[in-house]
Amino acid sequence: MAGQTSTDVVIVGGGVGGLAVAWNLTIQAMQEGVNPPNITLVEASGRWGGNADTFQFSFGTGPDGKPLNRWADLGVNDFNVTAYTKIVAVMNAIGFNYGVDYKQLEDTTSYFTADGSLAFTDNAVPWWGTGMDPNLAASANSFMTVAGNDATKNATKFQNYTIEQYINEQGPLQNPPWDPDLGPMVIYPRINGMYFVSELGPRSMPFLAVMHYYAIQEGAGGQPANRCYFVNGASAWIDRLVAYMTNKLTNITFLLNYQAVVSQVATTDPMYLVQNLGNNPMPIRATIVVLAAHADDCLTAFIGMPAPASAIMGAVRYNNGISVVHTDSRVLPVNSNCWCTYNILIHEPGAAGLKPYVINYVANRHQNDAANPAYDKFGLPQFFVSCNPQRPIPENMILKDVGGNPAIANLRHNNFDFTTMEAQSRIETMQGVQNIYYAGGWTHGSGLHEECWAQGEDVATLILQHAQTGAPKLPGQPKEVGKLVGDRLKRNAGL
Ligand SMILES: Cc1cc2nc3c(=O)[nH]c(=O)nc-3n(C[C@H](O)[C@H](O)[C@H](O)COP(=O)(O)OP(=O)(O)OC[C@H]3O[C@@H](n4cnc5c(N)ncnc54)[C@H](O)[C@@H]3O)c2cc1C
Repeated sequence: MAGQTSTDVVIVGGGVGGLAVAWNLTIQAMQEGVNPPNITLVEASGRWGGNADTFQFSFGTGPDGKPLNRWADLGVNDFNVTAYTKIVAVMNAIGFNYGVDYKQLEDTTSYFTADGSLAFTDNAVPWWGTGMDPNLAASANSFMTVAGNDATKNATKFQNYTIEQYINEQGPLQNPPWDPDLGPMVIYPRINGMYFVSELGPRSMPFLAVMHYYAIQEGAGGQPANRCYFVNGASAWIDRLVAYMTNKLTNITFLLNYQAVVSQVATTDPMYLVQNLGNNPMPIRATIVVLAAHADDCLTAFIGMPAPASAIMGAVRYNNGISVVHTDSRVLPVNSNCWCTYNILIHEPGAAGLKPYVINYVANRHQNDAANPAYDKFGLPQFFVSCNPQRPIPENMILKDVGGNPAIANLRHNNFDFTTMEAQSRIETMQGVQNIYYAGGWTHGSGLHEECWAQGEDVATLILQHAQTGAPKLPGQPKEVGKLVGDRLKRNAGL
């Protein structure tokens, strides 16, 4: 075919999942003293990072006469330095430094009802009259320790539990018993603010799924969390990573605006033809294909997916979330003393119209930077990021970015429900079958950055073995779900 190029490995999807495979394949090969494979990483959109999506804003000039330039993350926005050891190691390797490129954020959360009848914060030193009831706070702390330990040490025992079953069964056994409000006022609302909650609602979420987030992001069952934000937003981190890889890892070709369609065109290598649905076809022949986009996108992108893989990926469901940057404070607690970095809406049990994944950030607190007084508790104008806001944001309150575009993004993540857990265990048995590998958030735990990176490591190891022996190392039977999910939780939470 005219203009056709060939590559050893094509990776479909330029989010952190695809970048992790490209990075780990190259670095692991170098560490083993073998030539890194030729890799082509293709991304459908015009930017790298997928769910890491930052908008830049100009608020004119500040009182000191300097430009007030700010940013907001509509998707990925924070990480826990204590647990994200793989990501931090990569940051160290590329010179992306603590205190300069990422900084500690103000880790505070409010819980509030939309009618203003209830609002409290989780702060250790609350503002007057707004702190969490001491019994509730004690129960919340106890939950983090007890449930964190159970998720890592007794994962198999609790693998079929919903979070509601777990709390109802374990709460009364504690000394003192957990406050009956722990679930309805704190844990279930907070779960509804996790990007992987399913439409069935927070109470039905698997205990282990919930604990992935609490352990890896918030330190449950482990060391206290040190949550950080990316200076200039998550896109700044991705841009630095891609710049480093482009300069130093020259075996990788990066192609943006390349919406891949993959088909098998031969039974011997290179088996696959990858074509671009976009304007520039640029066909690529590849020996190995890594699917690192969302499961449903991969199903569309791959013509003739092996039937078992197709069945597994088809079972994974997605939230079509909308994130928006705005100035409408009506999505926050009525009592403004309660405004926190993260603001969690308490729904009535069984509330009709419960939207999955509702959370509101005060951007000025999220980027609060004690080391830089100019940005410390950055003053007016206050602005907010809402994921699936509980009330419509009027158009005139939606901010426009420096390019004049409304700051709205549609960022998707798979549900991490019982079906997805099982899919994660079964997709491992498909790694390497017909020279296809699977990576990205849906394949590994709750799909946090650290977990995407862990999957990138695992897939890279398998592909390098494949390259050395000339055949994929097929994994055989699926692992028991509780064991797989529990072991991964321990590994990625640094426990
Ligand atoms: C709103 C939100 C907030 C989040 N916040 C955090 C956070 O603070 N910290 C954290 O660690 N995690 C967070 N996450 C989880 C986050 O999704 C993961 O950390 C990670 O970014 C997922 O990476 P991924 O590569 O699997 O998917 P994505 O980042 O979604 O990337 C997939 C890419 O594949 C591309 N693609 C699709 N089809 C094709 C095709 N045919 N050809 C080529 N390319 C294709 C897409 O354009 C996309 O860029 C958040 C998720 C959401 C939705």
